[in-house]
Amino acid sequence: MIEKNIRDIFSQYPEVLYGFADTSYSAYAGDYQSALVFAVPYGEQLTVETYSEERFEKGIQDAKRILEKILAQLKETLDEHAVAYYIPPVAQDDEEELKAPFSFKFAAVHAGLGWIGKNDVVITGKYGPRVRLSAVLINERFVYGEKIIRNHCPEDCHKCVDACPHKALHGVPWNIDSFRSEIIDYRLCNEKRSLYLKTHGRKNACGLCMAACPFGT
Ligand code: SF4
Ligand code: SF4
Repeated sequence: MIEKNIRDIFSQYPEVLYGFADTSYSAYAGDYQSALVFAVPYGEQLTVETYSEERFEKGIQDAKRILEKILAQLKETLDEHAVAYYIPPVAQDDEEELKAPFSFKFAAVHAGLGWIGKNDVVITGKYGPRVRLSAVLINERFVYGEKIIRNHCPEDCHKCVDACPHKALHGVPWNIDSFRSEIIDYRLCNEKRSLYLKTHGRKNACGLCMAACPFGT
């Protein structure tokens, strides 16, 4: 019943991708058996040709509004069912390792929404990397998506790597056992994105290396 109610919510947003993952791979497995993860497409699907900071930022904010609406509906339903759940924060809480407490990316891979590209972000078949992710940990079993264990980037594609102005991407194809450090110099990327705190009030998202991706365009 709870799964049906959740699926009913998503049927109101046909553009949004979603799935369920078994959390047994994560540190949260003891408290929450599953993760519901969803991907809201950015308001505008930009390419390198159409990219601008302003348009990219607007697309993110448009997606964020829809995401928050969905989260509010989910909360209401989960409260009605009196099931234990937790909405993990997006932000990193570990400034040393630059990791969020619960990785939405990894949950998306486990739910079968996409793979990690050479730009270190989730690539969905429909929108490429142009999505905003969210997740809810729920202590309930669901019908799970099929975990994706390797990338589907064309072998000879390096568009994201070439688009990065700081050469932070190593051009290494991802698989489920990859370490993040093999794919990206995340400290360098973080340092460069943090420069946007002054102008945007937050770190810049992965703009150019996302806009360059041929998936979803
Ligand atoms: S966010 Fe910017 S610095 Fe980081 S990998 Fe993408 S293009 Fe490079
Ligand atoms: S630009 Fe090419 S290599 Fe980079 S994530 Fe997209 S498909 Fe993969």
